[in-house]
Amino acid sequence: MDDSQVKDVVGFKNYSLTDIVDINDLQKLQDSFAKANRVASSIVDVNGSPITKPSNYSRVCTLIRETEKGSANCRRSGKILGDLSLQTNKPYCHFCQSIGFLDAAAPIVIEEVHVANWLIGQNCIGDVDENRIISYAEEIGADTNAMLEAFQAIDKISEEEFREKLDFLWLMANHISSQAYQHLRYQIMLASLEKSQHELNDYKNNLEKTVTERTTELEKAIEKIRQISVRDALTGCFNRGGMNTYLPKEMNRARRYNNPLCILLCDLDHFKRINDTYGHHSGDLVLQRVVARMEDLVRADVDWLARYGGEEFLMVMPYTDLAGGINTAERLRQAISEIVFSFSGKTEHITASFGVSGIEDWQSEGTVSHETLLNSADVYLYRAKKEGRNQVISGPPVFDRK
Ligand code: GH3
Ligand code: MG
Ligand code: MG
Repeated sequence: MDDSQVKDVVGFKNYSLTDIVDINDLQKLQDSFAKANRVASSIVDVNGSPITKPSNYSRVCTLIRETEKGSANCRRSGKILGDLSLQTNKPYCHFCQSIGFLDAAAPIVIEEVHVANWLIGQNCIGDVDENRIISYAEEIGADTNAMLEAFQAIDKISEEEFREKLDFLWLMANHISSQAYQHLRYQIMLASLEKSQHELNDYKNNLEKTVTERTTELEKAIEKIRQISVRDALTGCFNRGGMNTYLPKEMNRARRYNNPLCILLCDLDHFKRINDTYGHHSGDLVLQRVVARMEDLVRADVDWLARYGGEEFLMVMPYTDLAGGINTAERLRQAISEIVFSFSGKTEHITASFGVSGIEDWQSEGTVSHETLLNSADVYLYRAKKEGRNQVISGPPVFDRK
């Protein structure tokens, strides 16, 4: 951002001297200057309106300025003087367009903007005499006697002496100009810094918002992936990974509260025949429908199903003793056998064999691991197959498979 942009931002386009310089400091400087040089002094804006309070003003000029006409003449005279001084680039002197005293001005310029004029005058009366005082007092409607009295009391200085003060005036005006310039630069820099700070804060807030949003999205994506990773793509029940994660947890929970827990392994009978006869896709449909049916028949959010192998499934039933597990297995066996499949215009049925095992009292069987429990159910399943399929065989955990 360049300076002009910064100025627009901070609203300095139409700045005045008092926006930039401390007016009290300026007043003190002007008062001391006027006193030391035995001149009246004031700083006015480019239209001639006062910025500071007048210093060391002569009573004559005060009386003039108290009238409307006199004040307007003084303002106009000050403006012309300041403009001429700016144009000629030196302190400019003229006999004022009010009463005719010798006045001088030096411009105060900040960044090429003419913002004020430093005026001095009133003590070098030139060829103004008492007649001029009387006529001017009448012209502007001032008190003639008071004006005359004040004129006599003026601390008059010669034109030569007055001109000697011009260099000093020029130096002071330049000093104010450069001091104001430094202040302006400082303020612009400050405004620019504040703006950058705001932009930085906005950026930071936006960044934090974006990070939060992205984190939430990421967490959702991770959760989705996690869900997918523990689910079987074909049937939607848990996969082997899900089983390995949740079965030990389920058993720990049951052990802690000494709740009974039962599992069953279910293997479809002669499933290979379906594949061989109707194709793999038909086999897939059988698996999907069997899973959906089994999930329908058990307690939602309590019992859960996992795909243990190709056409072999594990059902975990918390808070269920062996009798309850056998009961459920029977219900499932019955329900699976009643599903009617229709492939290539032919009606098909399928049956399943079940091995059921469980733990009713953890105190006596507390060391049972999930592998042992699975192996036990597998032993009973094997027997069910061996003894003719389409049946449920159950028993307590088997610690020795031999
Ligand atoms: P058994 O009664 O002794 O269990 O006989 P079976 O035919 O069911 O058992 P076997 O182990 O001989 O065959 C299982 C078949 O299951 C073989 C395999 O191709 C099939 N299978 C495994 N996973 C899938 C699958 O995701 N989709 C389909 N369509 N078939 C599968
Ligand atoms: Mg099978
Ligand atoms: Mg099998």
